[in-house]
Amino acid sequence: MSSPAKLDQKYIWHPFTQMRDWLTGTPIVIASGKGPVLTDIRGKKYLDANSSIWTNLHGHTHPKINAAIQRQLRKISHSSALGLANIPASLLAERLVKAATPHSALRTPHLNKVFFSDDGSTAMEVALKLAYVFARRTGHFPKPKFLSLEGAYHGDTVGAVGLGHIDLFHKAYSGLLFKTDRVMSPYCYRCPFNRAKPERADAREYRKCHWECVGQVEKKFTAQKKRGHPYAAFVFEPLMQGAAGMIPQPSGWLRQTAQIARSHGAQLIADEVMTGFGRTGFPNDVLTSNKYQNEKARTSSRPLLGERAGVRASVQLTSLFASHQEGVQPDFLALAKGMTGGYLPMAATLTTQPVFDVFLGDYSEFKTFFHGHSFTGNQLGAAAALASLDILQSPDSIRARKNLQKAFQSGLAKLWSSPNVGDIRQVGLVAGIELVKNWRTREPFALRERVGIRVCEAMARRGVLTRPIGNVIVLMPPYCATPQQITRMIRVLSQSVLETLGS
Ligand code: PMP
Repeated sequence: MSSPAKLDQKYIWHPFTQMRDWLTGTPIVIASGKGPVLTDIRGKKYLDANSSIWTNLHGHTHPKINAAIQRQLRKISHSSALGLANIPASLLAERLVKAATPHSALRTPHLNKVFFSDDGSTAMEVALKLAYVFARRTGHFPKPKFLSLEGAYHGDTVGAVGLGHIDLFHKAYSGLLFKTDRVMSPYCYRCPFNRAKPERADAREYRKCHWECVGQVEKKFTAQKKRGHPYAAFVFEPLMQGAAGMIPQPSGWLRQTAQIARSHGAQLIADEVMTGFGRTGFPNDVLTSNKYQNEKARTSSRPLLGERAGVRASVQLTSLFASHQEGVQPDFLALAKGMTGGYLPMAATLTTQPVFDVFLGDYSEFKTFFHGHSFTGNQLGAAAALASLDILQSPDSIRARKNLQKAFQSGLAKLWSSPNVGDIRQVGLVAGIELVKNWRTREPFALRERVGIRVCEAMARRGVLTRPIGNVIVLMPPYCATPQQITRMIRVLSQSVLETLGS
């Protein structure tokens, strides 16, 4: 075994990894990366089919992001945001506010304050603390309570874990956590209200139901109000719940539930750590319409559920954020992972003027937001994020992402021929493929069979890297992947399912 692999096994404790298994295997040691390809120290090449745990947008060693970091490196890498401002963080804050604001509302952006932190967990931790204090200080919620979704995952810090509802990950810490409520998420494939028999199609398309999942949200809000403690905030991942197993929401779910939450006076906390920065792609009408092929006509009159009464802003159809595709403008927007293009750990929580204002006062009132991280507003991260936004918002990238989304969509359809594929859930440039014993019965594999892990190991042997979530195989290509590389990821997945499950 190579020396870095030996050192790794001797000293490093890997996240979300059964270390007994790790210590008996031979680690792949990555030496370099270019575009969507990673190369290990033996020279073997792999397609990065989960964008390095959902972070990498434009590929590795992108010349523009590398150059931006190098330019910044010549000036300074880091100075504290506690008491000091810096150039790239200021520029980035403005860019993020603009990107999070629909075109027609640019004069009065709803999300106009940016708090920088380090990763997705801290971005959510900040949203949680701000929403909590806001709820208390505005006087309506003496004991602010939060509602999040079944299967929710919002990070690993203790506050973020409190918002989560994955027993496998979270139960061990139950004694440490504050209590939040959960409500069913729209997992159409395994929804108890879906009366449709399984078909060879995304369950969202053939479901037979009466939107009971929305009804459940309504019920929760009403019951909580009756108890005299309405929910202070509704927390969700828009369009697609990632770590829950890539659970996509049927069109209209978010708009309806956000409206319910607003009508009960709750703040909306959108966790776009995974979905943000274009990951959820473009709505189908934008994808197919020639009007948007030339990148000039970029806005429509699609209404956005604005915060202030009477604000009916139109959403940018090429918006980088999933919430906007459902016409929802949250009060907190948590961003991380892809923010720097996946190059450096940096995150942001965007929020509103009213939230900001409840922290204002005389020094002696001690209303200050007493929270902050050493690397908040880091210059290298901000420089990388600015370069990534330049690429993302360029017509070339928009065009390439549209083409890739089409190739992804049509490529994934080939997987229906496998009897072990129960559901294929794709939103934009992310997909979860749920493996089952029998697609006609939806019978799942027991977790201890490690089916997802074994399929991903077989994929790695064939030169495609990704990680499963239980029995769900995740495909999340970097935006610079070619349609041919997408085809290869899907072919390798199909071969690996065959090798592992023999059908
Ligand atoms: N929120 C979501 C939706 C995530 O997917 C993740 C990470 N997978 C997090 C928060 C936590 O992000 P991080 O790992 O960067 O702390």
